Amino acid sequence: MSAFFGLEVRDVTRVFRSGIAVDNVSLKVPQGQLVCFLGPSGCGKTTLLRIIAGLESASSGRLLVDGRDITNVPVEQRNFAMVFQSLALFPHLSVAENIAYSLRLRGVDRANRAARVAELLELIKLPGIGHQSVEKLSGGQRQRVAIARAIAQEPLLFLLDEPLSALDARLRDHMQVELRMLQQKLKITTILVTHDQREAMTIADTIVVMAHGKIQQVGAPIDVYRNPANRFVASFVGQSNLLDAEVLDDTHVRVLGQALPMAKIPRGTSRNTRVTVSVRPEDTRIERADADGGAASHGTLPGEVTFVRDLGDLVELRVVCQGIELISVGAPGQWPGIQHAERVRVRLPADSAAILAN
Ligand code: ATP
Repeated sequence: MSAFFGLEVRDVTRVFRSGIAVDNVSLKVPQGQLVCFLGPSGCGKTTLLRIIAGLESASSGRLLVDGRDITNVPVEQRNFAMVFQSLALFPHLSVAENIAYSLRLRGVDRANRAARVAELLELIKLPGIGHQSVEKLSGGQRQRVAIARAIAQEPLLFLLDEPLSALDARLRDHMQVELRMLQQKLKITTILVTHDQREAMTIADTIVVMAHGKIQQVGAPIDVYRNPANRFVASFVGQSNLLDAEVLDDTHVRVLGQALPMAKIPRGTSRNTRVTVSVRPEDTRIERADADGGAASHGTLPGEVTFVRDLGDLVELRVVCQGIELISVGAPGQWPGIQHAERVRVRLPADSAAILAN
């Protein structure tokens, strides 16, 4: 059998005295791809990244790179580059000296070092600042220099732990796009750890969603968003309206006392099974209660608007149906004049709602 090119994590577990941080994780990071570990604080994503880096040992399991077992290879021999949120640049060195650090260690001569540094400064869109002290740089510039310094190493694997979390929201958004474009250009196999689903969706080829040390779902960002595997993924990756439901037949569930058509009920689910219906705010349909004198109310949930927020680029409504709050998001001008306390009907489109096991 031919070797898998990239990183393979096989059955990795890490137990601390406090409990299991990483629970029997297996995954593949194909060569040239960017994979995000996404999950809330304490889910084990940093521990898993540190095991891959060689900074932490696994209690059991194996790591392979291009089919070669590296489980016991020490950190300095793995040729992985790391960028952490808190990873400081060498403060007494210039930008160029920071970037050239690994080149110097490898014995690259002065002229070639200078050429490579100039190339990398171009790449991170900071040409001509090589002579500057790193202490004079802004947060975003420092992060870019740290990334250039890591790339200079020509690593087999690029590991980033919350590299942008110290930046303000606007710069962070900008750097996410830049980092993605840079990775697509260089095609360095990369793992990025984040708790920010928007960051993961911007940057990743593949998202690995984690909770309690376990992988919850692996997939392309939009697939994970559209077809969440469970309640945790549905609510952690984007916003979701989660409703308790009961299966009536292959094509209908009962929600809040109403029989609603649903296209994604898994085959073979038996009648009366309790499930959760997950509907994204942008998929809900809001109909004015007085639109047709109530004739078309079939298959909808009657409710009352409790909050309207017009953000200019989108409008958000909160509607309470029998004590359950649903969030709905629409394009500007979609519900002209809609008001607090107005009676509406909420339609959950049959083909976009996900049906999740309880
Ligand atoms: P965060 O985003 O807050 O860093 P995380 O998802 O990266 O969280 P980890 O840092 O991997 O999570 O921690 C997972 C669990 O393992 C936590 O319960 C944590 O307290 C525990 N843990 C991590 N490192 C150690 C350690 N060196 N000794 C004991 N327990 C640890």
